Amino acid sequence: MRSQSISALAQSLRAGEFSSVELTREYLDRIAALNPQLNSYITVCEESALQEAELADRRIRGGDAGLLAGIPIAHKDIFCSEGVRTSCGSRMLDNFIAPYDAHVVSRFREAGAVMLGKTNMDEFAMGSSNETSYYGAVRNPWHPERVAGGSSGGSAAAVAAGLCVAATGTDTGGSIRQPAAFCGITGLKPTYGRVSRFGMIAFASSLDQGGPMTRSAEDAALMLEVMAGFDERDSTSAEQPVADYRAALEQDLKGLRIGVPKEYMDAALDEEIAASVQLALDEYVRLGAELVEISLPNTHLAVPTYYVVAPAECSSNLSRFDGVRYGYRCREPKDLEDLYKRSRGEGFGQEVKRRIMIGTYALSAGYYDAYYLKAQKLRHRISDDFRAAFEKVDLIMGPTAPSTAFGLGEKADDPVNMYLCDIYTIAANLAGLPGMSIPVRPVDGMPVGLQLIGNYFDEGRLLNAAHRLQQESNWHLATPVTSE
Ligand code: GLN
Repeated sequence: MRSQSISALAQSLRAGEFSSVELTREYLDRIAALNPQLNSYITVCEESALQEAELADRRIRGGDAGLLAGIPIAHKDIFCSEGVRTSCGSRMLDNFIAPYDAHVVSRFREAGAVMLGKTNMDEFAMGSSNETSYYGAVRNPWHPERVAGGSSGGSAAAVAAGLCVAATGTDTGGSIRQPAAFCGITGLKPTYGRVSRFGMIAFASSLDQGGPMTRSAEDAALMLEVMAGFDERDSTSAEQPVADYRAALEQDLKGLRIGVPKEYMDAALDEEIAASVQLALDEYVRLGAELVEISLPNTHLAVPTYYVVAPAECSSNLSRFDGVRYGYRCREPKDLEDLYKRSRGEGFGQEVKRRIMIGTYALSAGYYDAYYLKAQKLRHRISDDFRAAFEKVDLIMGPTAPSTAFGLGEKADDPVNMYLCDIYTIAANLAGLPGMSIPVRPVDGMPVGLQLIGNYFDEGRLLNAAHRLQQESNWHLATPVTSE
């Protein structure tokens, strides 16, 4: 398995040490060998990937290659990709061939990247274990009986097992950071609005954000540079210029103030996970940073607030899947109502239906004030906690998830227990802040993630802090046995 960074691979391609066709072939062979077990891809685009690689080779020879020319990557199957099935992990879209590219997909095309395929995910990105996918669960490359995390579990497992160089993911409540933590890779959820959501199938529009999933912070910086930027087709896209993330990587951390929320590092946190997080924090102190205890007093309200806001938005977004224009349609409908009911009843899985029902209830006339409006108020309070904290500190750090990857099936029948997997990640989505997960010392052979939360549009500082730790340690270089 190749362990070089994207920039090292790009350099080798330019130097003619190997071609993109050879590199792409190598990844396709690994996918053929390992994907039947891991189930990290829903669709593999062998033919088009090799064509894209050939084109990249020609461009590289001609000297007009883009930033990622010839680099084999994968996209979460939530991003529309022209001419390729875009299932969103659902039976509802099992037959859906996207007629256009998502903004993110077209940015990678323009940069010359090769798309190996589309990765597995929880149905409509609802889940924390990838077990709600219509295509079956993804297996964790570190332990075949454990989950890969979710909802971007396919991307996380593919990066960890070397089935692509890097991948895209989306994060509504933790879906980039939590699977990154479970699979031992680097994942970044940018500030809300930093990456265009055009062509990214909507779950909860005020929370969804796409971002990179990579082996290292250095690779994430490069990926984010390609993905980020204003797009007029997304009305929430930020007009803010894109920073030079790679240039920020090497900055000195002397004087960096790191806030450690006492609500994250409390007695309820697993002792061994706390010890791994503390070890990384100590390393930051050695690098010149200062640790400041902070409080985010509304932390306990993040999960309940999210589970009103996200289902409410999902119930509205998913009303477009009606069996009429595209997607699944039931057989021989009797009339229009029967068509709607059976198409949705047969096309959606259990978790998606649960969310639609909760959301519709929370938005209904009699309950709107009691649930939805109340949740919006709490959302403000949670944002205010962060605003106050960022007056005292530059970055916030703590655990990404309360446990390491759990067993397949272990939480499948207990939705609330599953929802609690995102207890540390959800608040950043509610506030719209950028968050990142990087691997730290494993516990019992399973990866552990350190979460970094930054102020709005401060992705450069997140990447800088993550990169400096990765220069001083080798946790991010560890690879699972399946990939040797
Ligand atoms: N696990 C959370 C949920 O099920 C978050 C999912 C996500 O970030 N897409 O909603």
